[in-house]
Amino acid sequence: MSTDPARRVAALVEQLNEHNYRYYVLAQPSISDQQYDALLAELAQLEDAHPELRRPDSPTQRVGGKATGDFATVRHATPMLSLENSYSQDAIQAFDARVRRALPGEEVRYVAELKLDGVALSLLYQDSHLMRAVTRGDGIQGDDITANARAIGAIPLRLRQPSIDCEVRGEVYLLRQDFAALNRQRESDGESLFANPRNATAGSLKLQDPRLVAARRLRLAAYWLRTDRVRATRHWDHLRILRDWGLPTNPEARCCPDLEAVWAYFREFGQRRDELPYEIDGVVIKVDDLDQQRRLGFTAKSPRFAMAYKFQARQANTRLLDIQVQVGRTGAVTPVAVLEPVPLGGSTISRATLHNEDEIRRKDIRIGDTVVLEKGGDVIPKIVAFVPAARPADARPFAFPEDCPACAAPLVRDPDEAVERCENPACPAQLKRRLEHYASRQAMNIEGLGPAVAEQLVHHALVRDVGDLYSLSPDELRGLERLAEKSADKLIKAIGSSTARSFDRVLFALGIRHVGTTVARTLAAKMGSMERLRQATPEELAALPDIGPKIAGAIQDFLAAPDTSNLLEKLAAAGVQLRSGVGDDAMDSARDGDTSPRPQAEASYFAGKTVVLTGTLAGITRDEAAARIRALGGTVTGSVSARTDVVVAGDKAGSKLDRARELDVEVIGTEQFRAHLQAAGMDPETG
Ligand SMILES: [Zn+2]
Repeated sequence: MSTDPARRVAALVEQLNEHNYRYYVLAQPSISDQQYDALLAELAQLEDAHPELRRPDSPTQRVGGKATGDFATVRHATPMLSLENSYSQDAIQAFDARVRRALPGEEVRYVAELKLDGVALSLLYQDSHLMRAVTRGDGIQGDDITANARAIGAIPLRLRQPSIDCEVRGEVYLLRQDFAALNRQRESDGESLFANPRNATAGSLKLQDPRLVAARRLRLAAYWLRTDRVRATRHWDHLRILRDWGLPTNPEARCCPDLEAVWAYFREFGQRRDELPYEIDGVVIKVDDLDQQRRLGFTAKSPRFAMAYKFQARQANTRLLDIQVQVGRTGAVTPVAVLEPVPLGGSTISRATLHNEDEIRRKDIRIGDTVVLEKGGDVIPKIVAFVPAARPADARPFAFPEDCPACAAPLVRDPDEAVERCENPACPAQLKRRLEHYASRQAMNIEGLGPAVAEQLVHHALVRDVGDLYSLSPDELRGLERLAEKSADKLIKAIGSSTARSFDRVLFALGIRHVGTTVARTLAAKMGSMERLRQATPEELAALPDIGPKIAGAIQDFLAAPDTSNLLEKLAAAGVQLRSGVGDDAMDSARDGDTSPRPQAEASYFAGKTVVLTGTLAGITRDEAAARIRALGGTVTGSVSARTDVVVAGDKAGSKLDRARELDVEVIGTEQFRAHLQAAGMDPETG
C-alpha cells in the first residue's frame, strides 16, 4: 500500500465498520470472514507501527485485553421496566380494550415484535460513541458491563450518524448454532453445560475477560430509542432509525393495524418458531404512536402501552423410571434420568440430564415420580419439577453412589463444581470416553472409531490408553463383534493416517482437563513442541493468553501423571505430531476473538470440514468439485444445516445460499474455491 498510513488507517476503519454493518444490521455480508480478518490484521499492523493513529472506536480496540474486575452498579436514567405478560388471548383483548378506553375516538395501531429469549441491555451513546453499557438488573439499577459490550461485534462502537446522544435498549442473545457450539466446546472441555441460550448469554455478559466475551458471538436486537436528535412520531420509525445508525434490529417486526393482525402474527410465529435461528418465547405488542405511548404512561411496574403475549412452554409429563449415573472422560460422574418415552418438541425423549446431585435434591425428584419435562428448540430436555399429586407411595429418593459404577473407585467431590469425580486413571468408562474424544472430528478425526468400537476395545482390553491404538493389529480387530474384515482394515488405516494431524489437534485430542481447541492452539503456537511444553513452569503457562492458573494446573497434573510419559512415548513411536509446523490440518477457528496462528490452514482449507456445493461452478462440474474436496479431507453433503462449515456458491445459487446466510454459515465463491484448490496443490480446472 503506497498511500500514507493515516489515510489507509481511516479507510480501513471505515471499511471494517461498513462490513460489520452489512453483516449484523443488513445480514448481507459482502466479504468472507477470512477477508474481514485480513483487513483487521492490516489495520492492527498499521496501528502498531503508528500508535498515534489508533482511535478508540477502531475495530481493533474492541477487546482491551484487560480483565474486568467487579462490575460497578449504575442507576438507569429511566427505569427499565419489565412488560406485563400473559399466555392468554383474553388478557391481550383486555389490554387492547384498556388502551382504546384511554384513547377514546383515536385510531390505535400496534407494532408486533418477536420476544427474543435473551438479556436486556441499555447502551449509552455520546457524540455517537459508545460510552456505557448497563444490564437491566432490577430495572432501577444494573451492572456496568461496558468493557464486555465493546467486545460484542454486533454493538457498534460508533454510530453511523455523527453527533448523536442517545440511549438504546435491546436484547443480547445467542443464535442456536452458536449456543450449540458453545455447549459442545464446554462438553469437550469437561465443563458444565448451559441449560439454554439465555443462561449462556447472561453468563457471557458477566465474564471477567472481554476476549472470552468476543469468542461467544453474542448478537443484539435493539428495540428502544431515547434521543433528542430526531423527532419521530412512531415506534416503527425508531426501529428504522436504529438500523440507519448501525444498530441491528430484529427483521421480523411488523405493523399491525388491529388486533386481528396481531393474532395472525402470533400464530405465524408460533408455527415458525423452530425454524428461526434463535429462541423466542412470545410476541411483544406496542402501541405504535409515540405520543399515545406518552399519554398512556406507566403503572408502577410496567408500561401501559406494551404487553408480551407468550407461547406455551414446550412441556410434557412423564414417569421417571430410574436415575443412572454416567462417567465422563475427565471422570465427572453425572446423573441421567431414564424416562418413560414421551413425544416432546418433535422428538421422543427417553433420557434427560439431571446435572448433579444437588439439583436432584433441590428439586426433590424421586424415582417413580411423574416429572415435568421441558424442551425448546435445540435445548437439551430438562426436568423442571415433579408433580406432587402424582407421587406414588413407593417413590424413592436417589442415592448417589459412593463408588464409580464402572471401576468401583471411591468418588471424590470436586468442591468447585458440585460434581463427583472418579479419579482412577485406569477407569474403563473414562478410557472409553477418552478414545471417543481422541477420535472425534475436531480432534484426530479417526473415522470408524465411534462409541461401539471404543466400548469393545476397552472391554477386550486391547487398549489401555490412546497410544495403544497405533499398535492394534488387524487380527485383534477382526475378533471384535460387528466389525467386518473390511472395516477392520479401514479402521487400522484411519488410525494410521491420524498421525498426520497437527500438534494443536493432538493436544486437544489428549483430553486434558480444561484444554479445549482454543487453549490447544495457544499451547501449540507458543510452546512449539511437547518437549518444550514439558519443561514449562506453571507460571510460564499461566502467563499465556487464554490460560490461567487453573488450566496451567490441569496441564501440569496431566504431564506429571505417572502414565503420561509412557503414553507420550507410544505416540512419538507411532509418529504422531508432537511439534508445531507439521501435520496436515490445524483446527478451524471461530471468527471472533481468535488471533492465534493457523499453521498451514491454507494448504488444506477443506480438511475436516463439511461442505455444501450450490449453483454452477465455472470450469468444473459439481461431481469433480466434490471429489476434490473429499480428496482434501472434506465431507460433501447435500443440504445446509447448522453442521455445515462452508457453502461453495457458484452462479445462480438458490435457497441453499439463503439458508447458509440464515444459519451464518461461511460462504465462498467460485474464485475463492479455486484459490483454495490451487493453494492445496490441486488443479482447479476439470480435464
Ligand atoms: Zn471409574
